[in-house]
Amino acid sequence: MKPAKFDYYCPKTVDEALALLEEIGFDGKIIAGGQSLVPIMNMRLSTPEYLIDINQLKDLQFIELDGSKMKIGALTRQTEIEMSDAVRKHLGLLSEAVPYIGHVQTRNRGTFGGSLVHADPSAEIPLSLMALGGTLHIASKEEVREVNVEEFFVTYLTTDIMPNELLTEIHVPVPEGRTGYSFHEISRRHGDFALVAAACQLSIDDQDRISKVRLVLGGVDAVPLLITDASVMEGEHLSAPLLNKIADMVDEAVNPESDLHATADYRRHLAKQLAVRTVKTAYERARGENNERS
Ligand SMILES: Cc1cc2nc3c(=O)[nH]c(=O)nc-3n(C[C@H](O)[C@H](O)[C@H](O)COP(=O)(O)OP(=O)(O)OC[C@H]3O[C@@H](n4cnc5c(N)ncnc54)[C@H](O)[C@@H]3O)c2cc1C
Repeated sequence: MKPAKFDYYCPKTVDEALALLEEIGFDGKIIAGGQSLVPIMNMRLSTPEYLIDINQLKDLQFIELDGSKMKIGALTRQTEIEMSDAVRKHLGLLSEAVPYIGHVQTRNRGTFGGSLVHADPSAEIPLSLMALGGTLHIASKEEVREVNVEEFFVTYLTTDIMPNELLTEIHVPVPEGRTGYSFHEISRRHGDFALVAAACQLSIDDQDRISKVRLVLGGVDAVPLLITDASVMEGEHLSAPLLNKIADMVDEAVNPESDLHATADYRRHLAKQLAVRTVKTAYERARGENNERS
């Protein structure tokens, strides 16, 4: 299959790209790594009249620690995230999740921002950012606006971004104190999208009581699902009864669907198992135990 005919633009600056987006609007599409857009265009599920190639916008390709936050440019390749020592040191959850994305070849082209805007509910980067928290900086010709990750994902493959807008950078808070993280996923084959995935970051106090927790599940709803009730863990030591409570909470919260790859019941079962495993590993890591990769 070949894509429908389109006109191609390759702006050299962000301002040039924003002016093009303003002019073209709904008839155009941004292409970054092309690892999701090109297959979709080939299947004619998307037939933009104009393609705006942002791969020359090198200002959007960076990883930078700025005080208590990590700033990541939207055009940063997934491989750069995977190989970054700064990300491994400060945002270990991302370093653990990114290698699960596709294959080396797709990660060499695929971008951090492209995965966020594509917004597949079982994708590793949207899930990890939801667990880490953060803000997305979205520019148009008129302004730059900041959106919290909780408000960015609207529904399946749909985000808060408008056709005349460009995601430029993402700011992720660097966790402080005794913090642990963990990422687990089950997929049919290596490189496939996850059937179900779980990501967790938590902090504990000097008595090993949980002080802060974000638990997120993928593949079980139309968006990466933040388990807001997980806050019941705060003030508690992790225990078998608390882990059972988490499993029940997840059972309540998820809305999995059956498809060719797995039944809704199987996804629900996986969600409970992976949530418990992920919280347990994150807690052990916060206590300085279990630093094995999951
Ligand atoms: C074989 C294969 C296996 C894969 N497996 C996985 C997997 O296991 N997990 C996973 O998460 N992904 C997987 N992917 C998808 C991959 O991660 C893509 O790279 C990612 O989904 C999209 O990023 P991209 O840079 O390629 O964006 P593109 O495909 O270029 O664009 C994706 C969408 O985002 C928009 N966009 C891109 N950048 C911006 C921006 N800066 N501002 C505004 N809009 C923008 C585009 O207009 C388009 O709508 C796989 C892909 C392939 C080909």
